[in-house]
Amino acid sequence: MTLSLQVLRDELESMKEKGLYGTIRTLEGPQGAWVTIEGRKVLNLCSNNYLGLCNDPRLVEAVRVAVGRFGVGPGAVRTIAGTMTPHIELERRLAAFKGTEAALVVQSGFCANLAVIPTLAPAEGDLIYSDSLNHASIIDACRLSRARVVRYGHSDMDDLRRKLEETRDGTGRKLLVTDGVFSMDGDVARLPEIVDLCEAHGVIVVVDDAHGEGVLGRGGRGIVDHFGLHGRVDVEVGTLSKAFGVMGGVASGRATVIDYLRQKARPNLFSSALTVPDVAANLAALTILEESDELVQRLWENGRTLKRELGTLGFTTGESETPITPVIIGEAASAKAFSVRLFEAGVFATAIAFPTVPKGTARIRAMVSAAHSDDDLAFAVEAFASVGREMGLIG
Ligand SMILES: *Cc1c(COP(=O)(O)O)cnc(C)c1O
Repeated sequence: MTLSLQVLRDELESMKEKGLYGTIRTLEGPQGAWVTIEGRKVLNLCSNNYLGLCNDPRLVEAVRVAVGRFGVGPGAVRTIAGTMTPHIELERRLAAFKGTEAALVVQSGFCANLAVIPTLAPAEGDLIYSDSLNHASIIDACRLSRARVVRYGHSDMDDLRRKLEETRDGTGRKLLVTDGVFSMDGDVARLPEIVDLCEAHGVIVVVDDAHGEGVLGRGGRGIVDHFGLHGRVDVEVGTLSKAFGVMGGVASGRATVIDYLRQKARPNLFSSALTVPDVAANLAALTILEESDELVQRLWENGRTLKRELGTLGFTTGESETPITPVIIGEAASAKAFSVRLFEAGVFATAIAFPTVPKGTARIRAMVSAAHSDDDLAFAVEAFASVGREMGLIG
């Protein structure tokens, strides 16, 4: 059957009718605590720019210097001619920061999952245990493997234990993968229990710490540091696009595992390296994190303030254990309307609904940043209060 444009048009129309067609707002200046959209400054409560580094002058200056020395593009995939000294320095320093033997940097967090999961558990007969709420990039990475995927209930350790028992006779490789922080609710994976269970069953553990990098652990060293599980997690996947404020993905772990990924992972072999500006900015971000935990502390303080103030107003903010602040509205249409009215009130915060979150739990996911001042948070709370009252959601 040929693909007709009419089929695509019909589907787009149907998405519009169902309210599932996404319209994307465009920022007319840098990412930051406030952003300019349609000529207007609005308070930004939806980026993953946790530490406010996206537009930090130290990162911008580091890029200027590096581009002067190394130019812009890497020119090739890393295995052919695309690796430069800054790439090697970034990997060495990321490994030191994470307290692991080695690290491999790829183009994005999404690519890091594609690099790790199908490479470590590639074959029919292999098994991949996957939390039911894992990120889309993990799901796609699992699909790229021929392994059988065994989904367990979200953070349900009894279900995981049962499934490990049921499959204990399997002779192939076994790998478990979980998000570290689940981004829609802000809850943290039960990693100590997961690691115990996996050690008992000979299962490799991979944790995708995209929302924990720069957030959890001492000075933002991530979930493994947060739980003191150094040396017991095989691979930590991370992204440099969230707290680091730049772009890039990283896999860190034992030298042998990272060496293997470097030789075999397809995003490393068949897609070019990060650009010089990306690498230079990431190095500068890393320096800031190494020097002080001030931004990480500020982020957590802002998260606590927003949760407390919204709770006092009567909003339900879920069970988040991180600065992520879900404000549960209920029906998808109400959450969308809430987001539109917030925008009119000067606050940019996107509504999230089914299928990203379960039906009836549509929400505004408020993302604070270390860049927000006390006045910014007060402005946000005021906007939530007035829209909430207007819509009859709070008293
Ligand atoms: C954001 C995210 C990614 C993707 O990271 P990018 O660097 O934006 O590609 C992967 N995994 C998880 C859990 C994420 O939250």
